[in-house]
Amino acid sequence: MALIVQKYGGSSVADAESIKRVAKRIVDTRRAGHDVVVAVSAMGDTTDELLDLANEVAPIPAPRELDMLLSSGERISMALLAMAIHSMGFEARSFTGSQAGMITDSQHGAARIVDVTPIRLREALDEGAIVIVAGFQGFNRDTRDITTLGRGGSDTTAVALAAALDADVCEIYSDVDGIFTADPRVIPSAQKLDHIISEEMLELAANGAKVLYIRAVEYARRHGVLIHARSTFSSSEGTYVLGEGMKNPRESEGAAMEEPIVAGVATDFSQAKITVAGVPDVPGKAAEIFKIVAKSGANVDMIVQNVSATGRTDISFTVPKADAAAALKALAGEQTEVGFQNLIHDDQIGKLSVVGAGMRTHSGVSATLFEALSAGGINIEMISTSEIRISVVLRDADLAEAARSVHTAYGLDGEVEATVHAGTGR
Ligand code: ASP
Ligand code: MG
Repeated sequence: MALIVQKYGGSSVADAESIKRVAKRIVDTRRAGHDVVVAVSAMGDTTDELLDLANEVAPIPAPRELDMLLSSGERISMALLAMAIHSMGFEARSFTGSQAGMITDSQHGAARIVDVTPIRLREALDEGAIVIVAGFQGFNRDTRDITTLGRGGSDTTAVALAAALDADVCEIYSDVDGIFTADPRVIPSAQKLDHIISEEMLELAANGAKVLYIRAVEYARRHGVLIHARSTFSSSEGTYVLGEGMKNPRESEGAAMEEPIVAGVATDFSQAKITVAGVPDVPGKAAEIFKIVAKSGANVDMIVQNVSATGRTDISFTVPKADAAAALKALAGEQTEVGFQNLIHDDQIGKLSVVGAGMRTHSGVSATLFEALSAGGINIEMISTSEIRISVVLRDADLAEAARSVHTAYGLDGEVEATVHAGTGR
């Protein structure tokens, strides 16, 4: 008998029918003799609808009240799910985040879990019940208020529960079959991975892959939780996300293979590029510029600076499209102080990243990337690397084609086209 934590995303519990389907899946797991703890998201687009509603009554909704409102989405789905399980003849009990002992800091809308005290969950499990927990929410001890963990936060709830209860596995169910070598909507020949190491998963998630939420993967990595990302809509196994030193549960079945050098290719259309042109080439200017940008709240990703021949240089960097306006405004306000000539905003860029832990020990990985791009006549605008990742910025119109040829160049193409359930991965 194992203890299994399962997380169901909003698309898996979008209506009464889906809730019943999920209930059946939970009951099947229980029937197989396992203890089950479920973290559930709000039904379908409930969270977005509640957000819209909040914005209709107030231009800037009070953060405390917004969390009260948004946390209600998960209360609806948890109660309905428990009812559905009951009517199938099984004992199920739902709990809010605070009842479940999900203790967070006080940061409304982006709270971090600081402690998990699942006393009531343990009791319910001991009494033979299936436990259903509202995802995405917690409680702060100092303010005694309800908090939410940020969009997509139910993944983190599930992983935190798995860590606190010492579960055997944390299954994250969504409408995609697992983790792919690339986004199957961009690259139809992408294939589902049997497993991926969490370090690679973090790089993919940070660079555009949306299947798993970064914070959840980080939490799992830190606490040694085994994640199994799989689909609600099929019974086939998904992808295991392995932390350091973790063994692939399927390896004993003979699935062991030589690890590929590249695990996947990520595409990201969400960034914009800002160029600060004609910056005086003297010490301290980059510090000034990025202090201004940081103050505007923009999150800088890639940076390049040209060599200067004329005593002035251009500094380009990327930020999320949503942050670009604030960064531009802040920079424009300090133009004379910094002494640059002008600002250029470009939101027609795309970022392509190649991720693989094997890069540490293999040479020639970047050469393969650049050759594939050059064969396609694709121009590279920026380059950045980490130990296990190479990213390039391109024209956004070139990104899909570039990603396909790079995917092929690394030998990642599958034999059969990936099935896409038109899902969002949530
Ligand atoms: N319902 C929340 C959201 O839509 C949390 C989640 O789905 O994980 O962001
Ligand atoms: Mg949702």
